[in-house]
Amino acid sequence: MPEKVLVVEDEPSLLDALEYNLRRQGYEVRTATDGLKALEMARRDRPDLIILDIMLPGLDGFEVCRALRREMNVPILMLTARADEVDKIVGLEVGADDYLTKPFSMRELMARVKALLRRVRLVREEVATTAAEAADAGEYATAPTLTFGDLTIDMARHEVLRGGQAIPLKPKEYELLAFLARHRGIVLSRDLILERVWGWDYAGETRTVDVHVRWLREKIEPDPAAPRRIVTVRGVGYRFEG
Ligand code: CA
Repeated sequence: MPEKVLVVEDEPSLLDALEYNLRRQGYEVRTATDGLKALEMARRDRPDLIILDIMLPGLDGFEVCRALRREMNVPILMLTARADEVDKIVGLEVGADDYLTKPFSMRELMARVKALLRRVRLVREEVATTAAEAADAGEYATAPTLTFGDLTIDMARHEVLRGGQAIPLKPKEYELLAFLARHRGIVLSRDLILERVWGWDYAGETRTVDVHVRWLREKIEPDPAAPRRIVTVRGVGYRFEG
């Protein structure tokens, strides 16, 4: 069965091009040209992926994304025309999975679409496998807990404690911290971090990593302005010191 993609874009020529190229790749395509219609269609059609422009008449892409996030797990690829929108998207406060800055090539877009859909399939399979294994074992395997001074990372519960207090982390912040902590003392390049934490096909900007490191530092560093836990290695990336 072809995967269903909902394209939300109010610029007719771009919408046509997206529709044409996605169809040619074998996807079933639905289109909407405003935010409200997009919400309606997403709720009704349950697409496998949504390509969502930000500047839309009526309800903008941010609002649509926020609303959908509360209701369903569909991957959302946002289209942005402005650099200042990127921080907001990357911030995950809207919950987008990936974004592309206009203008972009159709080839790039197709690569992102494929990567997102593949990630969703892999996660589904992994969840199914883990559940089956847990059922076989009769219990959930215990994951390790890593401790660094007053910082504790509970890998099983995906929980981070500082001085015994739980720190609220966004999912990507947690994944990034867990990844860094598992590779303590090793210099990790931004590209490698992007690949491992955001997915091997995530062609996002390495700035995404920097933004998340900044947020993490604010939550786990005694002095975020002089970080000692997540150290910057100039020109390369980051190293977790513990
Ligand atoms: Ca637009």
